[in-house]
Amino acid sequence: MTARRLVVIGGGISGLAAAWAARQEAVRAQRGLEVLVLERGGQVGGKANSVARDGWLVEGGPSGYLSGRPEMDGLVEEIGLAHDRVPANRAARVRFLYRAGRIRRVLPNPVGLLTEGILGPLGVARMLAEPFVPRRRETNDDESVWSFAARRLGPQVADRMVLPMALGIFAGDARRLSLRAAFPRMAALEREHGSVIRGMIARRGSTSSGALTSLRHGMQQLPRALAERGGFTVRCNAGVRALRRTEDGWSVVVEGDTEAIPADGVVLAGEPWAMAPLLRPHDEQAAAELAGIACPPVGVVALGFGPAAAAKLPVGFGLLVARGEGFRMLGTLWETHLYEGRGPVGHLLVRAMFGGAVDPDAGALSESELAALARAEVAKLYGVSDTPLLEHVVRVPRAIPQYEIGHPARVERITTAIDALPGLSITGNGLRGVAFADAASDGVRVGHAAARRLTEPGLL
Ligand SMILES: Cc1cc2nc3c(=O)[nH]c(=O)nc-3n(C[C@H](O)[C@H](O)[C@H](O)COP(=O)(O)OP(=O)(O)OC[C@H]3O[C@@H](n4cnc5c(N)ncnc54)[C@H](O)[C@@H]3O)c2cc1C
Repeated sequence: MTARRLVVIGGGISGLAAAWAARQEAVRAQRGLEVLVLERGGQVGGKANSVARDGWLVEGGPSGYLSGRPEMDGLVEEIGLAHDRVPANRAARVRFLYRAGRIRRVLPNPVGLLTEGILGPLGVARMLAEPFVPRRRETNDDESVWSFAARRLGPQVADRMVLPMALGIFAGDARRLSLRAAFPRMAALEREHGSVIRGMIARRGSTSSGALTSLRHGMQQLPRALAERGGFTVRCNAGVRALRRTEDGWSVVVEGDTEAIPADGVVLAGEPWAMAPLLRPHDEQAAAELAGIACPPVGVVALGFGPAAAAKLPVGFGLLVARGEGFRMLGTLWETHLYEGRGPVGHLLVRAMFGGAVDPDAGALSESELAALARAEVAKLYGVSDTPLLEHVVRVPRAIPQYEIGHPARVERITTAIDALPGLSITGNGLRGVAFADAASDGVRVGHAAARRLTEPGLL
């Protein structure tokens, strides 16, 4: 019997994780399964894009991930990168917020929030009353992240803390993001404990929320390692332009190829907007649902400075900037404070983020405009006006998927439609978690399932 073939469309972390897991499953089941990853770009990694330059290590996309998810942790270990993990420095626990005209330290306790002026006395009192706020009636209605925070913790927490937090994680607007999709653990705290504060106390010590971690050569090291030694084939510069059904499977058409690639199974692992046209001929409604997941642009500007500039910043993870303060920057990550090896010793590497759902026009700015904006705002925020030793701009025209209200139901409709198409599966950070570890873990689960279906022929 000839080996079956699984084609994975998209060589970001989710596609590569799916390919790896599919091969693992086939080896375990002692069945032949050829796995081919087709990637439109010139290299693997997708949004993970790490560049080493003159002693700096600059990330164009993710700079770290949260450990603690078994699929993600297993992937890192089994591909041989356990010793390349770089834990975040202790300093990363300290976070800052620019609000009402100055930089404020976000201390995780009511007194700290009050003394730093993040919340006023009424805001703190309202937050502390949260355990007495009745639990929401069980309902299938989705709720925005902002409304949940305002309802449970009060409008000051929602406006002053939750809005900037959504900028930091999603480059998104907490008023439009779905609580159940974007912060499922928060929703679970209310459901299971009747209160966020009571739930957090009850869960203290019982569950690990994971540790912020990176990799020695940057986050792209994991996709590269998977492509090199994951046991599957990767073709770069191979953009898939059509997906056709055949009598016994699928036929994958790559731009520029004269012959289509026959496949027994296909995993869609590209961005939702990129997978929608491939799905359209097979399910127009599901394709429209996929295309409806907004991915606004983000501009990332990395600036490297010498030790004199480094001394001007407090030590910490970075700074989020509340809207309405006269800055376009969503926030800055202080990369050299976060991880070892991100720049020459004693130097400072910061990454400023622009755009997202709250300022999509930033996506129209050119690289030089973004760089000038970042330099000006870094000078205004931190008093660092030195000429940067390093300047690296990455424009991501469609960056982070926005899980807007209704996202869980949308995902349900998409997956139901795809499950009805034999041999087809879908992964990627557009559906079940936007973070790198979410995408990797989802890829592993989807890859295993796809291979199981193909290596148990009766089920296909
Ligand atoms: C600026 C930025 C910063 C981020 N920071 C963090 C962070 O600090 N921590 C964190 O956990 N997460 C972060 N993320 C999120 C993280 O990068 C993603 O969760 C993850 O990289 C998504 O991986 P993916 O494989 O699902 O998608 P992608 O990385 O988008 O990969 C999809 C791939 O599919 C390919 N493709 C699309 N269409 C086709 C086609 N037709 N044919 C062939 N190939 C195709 C694309 O070229 C691409 O390579 C950040 C994201 C951005 C944009």
